[in-house]
Amino acid sequence: MSQARQYSDPDEKTLALATEHAEVFEAAVESGRRAGRKAAKKKLKRAAKHGGVKLSKALREATLRDAEKAGGRAAYAAATKALRKAAARMPVPTAPAPLPRSSTVPPTALPGLLFDVDQSPRIRTSGSQVVLEVLGTEWLSRSMVRIIAGGEGFADFESNGAADQHVKLHFANPSLGLVPPYEMRSLRALLAREDLPVSRSYTIRRHDTVAREISIDFFIHQINGVASAWAAGAKPGDLMVISRPKGNFRPDASAEQHLYLGDESAIPAISAALEMLPRNSLGKVFLEVNGAEDHQEIELPAKMTLSWIHRGEEPSATSKVLANSLRELPAVHGQVEILALGERSATQDIRRLLTHWDLDQRRIKVSSYWRASRLKHA
Ligand SMILES: Cc1cc2nc3c(=O)[nH]c(=O)nc-3n(C[C@H](O)[C@H](O)[C@H](O)COP(=O)(O)OP(=O)(O)OC[C@H]3O[C@@H](n4cnc5c(N)ncnc54)[C@H](O)[C@@H]3O)c2cc1C
Repeated sequence: MSQARQYSDPDEKTLALATEHAEVFEAAVESGRRAGRKAAKKKLKRAAKHGGVKLSKALREATLRDAEKAGGRAAYAAATKALRKAAARMPVPTAPAPLPRSSTVPPTALPGLLFDVDQSPRIRTSGSQVVLEVLGTEWLSRSMVRIIAGGEGFADFESNGAADQHVKLHFANPSLGLVPPYEMRSLRALLAREDLPVSRSYTIRRHDTVAREISIDFFIHQINGVASAWAAGAKPGDLMVISRPKGNFRPDASAEQHLYLGDESAIPAISAALEMLPRNSLGKVFLEVNGAEDHQEIELPAKMTLSWIHRGEEPSATSKVLANSLRELPAVHGQVEILALGERSATQDIRRLLTHWDLDQRRIKVSSYWRASRLKHA
């Protein structure tokens, strides 16, 4: 990690730095766009003059727009390089001053771009984002890692208490040096689409107000996922940027039986729901994983049963084992609560099967947690 730049008056310096960068970026990207469009126009004109194919009005406009974007991107890259160089040349004082605990910089003054993660003071929240620090990691099985996060941002997170409460995690390309929280509106105006931070949904597995920690359990599916790859390599000190929570499933203690089923992505929500059930609850749990090494400790009421369903060599994208385990059950009737979460086509199968059972629809929650990408699994 490079030596952190320190400030005697951090808020003032932060604002100055951010504003300065914003102006540089806005100006660079704007003139890059204009230059891209102008250059493409010139080329099209020259091509037409030399007998090239004449483009339709729509195609011509699309080509100019692409050129405009490419120009903006090139200017953005050049500005990044120049700012990094300038930041590296700034003097480093000998007596370090403490970093600000939280910034008073108004979000409107910050375009979401502070430069160089290593050199900028950190800011805690913006609008709907909460910035936490990774405190530790724990492997729960061969394929599931728990990320425990907290720090100053913990105070900004308000749990909604649902078993399936989930947040969006925001991931920025580390090579861009963006510092969270990300001001998406400004970033959209400044960055090419492929450079914008991306988000993925995850369940809050634990919200511990005593330890002031939040735990999220990630399935490491190894099919090139930004979230999964981030979690597999996360280490203390990394930043985890999350949104405010959503979700509304609270186990119904008055149900006669509970039937919970899902794949790895659902294990956190199902585990949280099981912990909320009264200890004398009845029912069954089916969890789909690859094999025995993917089992993990699950706490459940003593009279409930847990079955691990192995998909073995079958890719999770095409596996039918979860729906089959439901198909093999004798149809249940009456006051049964059902929670089914997982891959989209699996949950669709489950939903179809349940239509044949005579159940109170208000006690059924079936939700798609991810979607198999056809291209990657073809
Ligand atoms: C409300 C909600 C809560 C969720 N909670 C959790 C949670 O607590 N823990 C958890 O691990 N997941 C959870 N998920 C699922 C998670 O959001 C997705 O798996 C997500 O797509 C993973 O992002 P990624 O960047 O790793 O992969 P992506 O970039 O989204 O996808 C890359 C490739 O991986 C495949 N892929 C994505 N997810 C899976 C998977 N689970 N299994 C196999 N292949 C996959 C995709 O089809 C694609 O081919 C939740 C989803 C929702 C909607």
